[in-house]
Amino acid sequence: MHQPGRGAGRAGRFGGSAISGTVVGVSRLHAADRPSWQCKACGEPWPCPTRRDQLFDHYAQDPLGLIALMSSYLAEASAEIGDITGTDLYQRFLGWTR
Ligand SMILES: [Zn+2]
Repeated sequence: MHQPGRGAGRAGRFGGSAISGTVVGVSRLHAADRPSWQCKACGEPWPCPTRRDQLFDHYAQDPLGLIALMSSYLAEASAEIGDITGTDLYQRFLGWTR
């Protein structure tokens, strides 16, 4: 987060995809619907495959940043979902990051 230059190229690329489309609404962001943690766009358990691809791509140059982000999501989800085991949580939020 304090690395200079990390965001510039990535942000530009991210913005480019938004420009080519129309308005990017919430339904296209594949965000988590909390506290159920289902994807708002496709209804899959979040992070859904699409969101994983987006995150993986966005953090391609900063894998540790991705792990830190997903770790914080895992902690929040574990408090909100309830009916899920620690192993499932780990696989869902961190198992795909490497
Ligand atoms: Zn989705």
